[in-house]
Amino acid sequence: MVPRNTGARTPLERIRTRYENTDKKCPECGYVDESGNWESKTDGRTLVYRHVCPSCDASREHVFTFK
Ligand SMILES: [Zn+2]
Repeated sequence: MVPRNTGARTPLERIRTRYENTDKKCPECGYVDESGNWESKTDGRTLVYRHVCPSCDASREHVFTFK
């Protein structure tokens, strides 16, 4: 069986791709961070995505819990 290359193999990668591609605009100042500097960290049970706006320093967090 040949693995299909969809570009997003795991739920984690899908989440990451989604945020890096769609959530670049800061809700505070409207700055669009083209490089999508989402920072991720996980403790094995939860995944936290954090983004700090380079323009106004507003931070956003998305928390996911692994089932
Ligand atoms: Zn901002």
